[in-house]
Amino acid sequence: MKYRDLNIQTQREAPNNARTEGFSFLVRAGYLTRENTSTQLGEVALNHLRDLSKELSFLSQLSLSTIGNDNELFFPIASGSIEVAHCPNCQYAERLEFARLTKTPLPKEEELPLEKVLTPDCHTIEALANFLDIPKERTAKALMYTRVSDNQFIFIVVRGDMQLSEAKLKQHVGDVRTATAEEIERSGAAAGYASPIGLREALIVVDDLIPRSQNLVAGANETGYHLKNTNYARDYSAEIVEDLIQAKAGDACINCGNPLSILPAMSLATRKIYDFENILLALSETNHDSKGLTLPHPAAPFEVHLMQVSGKEMDTRLKAEEIYNNLQDQKISVLFDDRDERAGVKFNDADLIGCPIRVTVGEKGLKEGMVELKPRKEKENQLVHLDNIVEKIKSILK
Ligand SMILES: [Zn+2]
Repeated sequence: MKYRDLNIQTQREAPNNARTEGFSFLVRAGYLTRENTSTQLGEVALNHLRDLSKELSFLSQLSLSTIGNDNELFFPIASGSIEVAHCPNCQYAERLEFARLTKTPLPKEEELPLEKVLTPDCHTIEALANFLDIPKERTAKALMYTRVSDNQFIFIVVRGDMQLSEAKLKQHVGDVRTATAEEIERSGAAAGYASPIGLREALIVVDDLIPRSQNLVAGANETGYHLKNTNYARDYSAEIVEDLIQAKAGDACINCGNPLSILPAMSLATRKIYDFENILLALSETNHDSKGLTLPHPAAPFEVHLMQVSGKEMDTRLKAEEIYNNLQDQKISVLFDDRDERAGVKFNDADLIGCPIRVTVGEKGLKEGMVELKPRKEKENQLVHLDNIVEKIKSILK
């Protein structure tokens, strides 16, 4: 394709809204507008990736360092909008809100009798644990929601040191909203001092660690009081017992037990449906230098960036056109900078756009039957005879 047909607009300066270098170079090279929409060049790049994705080896051809699972593929990056739990040991990776973890129950104890204790101003787990001088692991945390579809009141119990993942909860009960004070009161629960014991018409949902935890301190459903030694099965039961916990950094991996890391990331694919915009961005984050993009073959939208430098005696442009047609006949994809710009401007733009090989047609070389060829990632030009261009390009791209 020709530079002028694509209406490419490169920028000297990084956009001031650039959050990452990859985004900055995509804008400067003319693939994206500052408003993050694709230009014509951007569409060519995306369509190229789309075509490439029909090949089985697509992902390995991109040379991106990704993490993922059967469902989703992630690219870790500081500016990423999602959080992923990742095990560096076994490569387990999952969106944080759905990540599974290995939970360690406290040592099994004999069940002790319920005991109601006065706990003034203890409406948080922190305050309760401090007041009773016990670790948070020995408390039961209560959360109250209402199901959106039928206004069913839902009472959730997780161990006091853990956080509920609303996403996991919703997988089991459907969409929910926070319960109102009225709904809480109607169930017989007391906000800040709530437990599932003795509730009316509540759907009780507990984390799967709760049945393995004895003698937890829970609310007495009476303001100012808690119950010591509550025990699942003996004192209450649940309709749903499932993993409801949101993992945090350092939690044990579900597969191998090693500590999980939490990484910001972006999603590159969901169930083999690729997000090509994100893939192009990930490629740009990974492949650039101080001058611009250094897109790898075959991910780059063009294999060759062809340009001519105007001469004094010869029509370099005519020769460049000839080479352009010849390369295309040989199934080599070419971006032809057909403008009458100064050489320096064209060199800079070629570096920004980042095709793997630059071919420059100049008067001096042509007199010897040669053109200049420069792989984007290398410093030196090579002089190549006109007859050998195709062969040389193919050997570099191999
Ligand atoms: Zn692991």
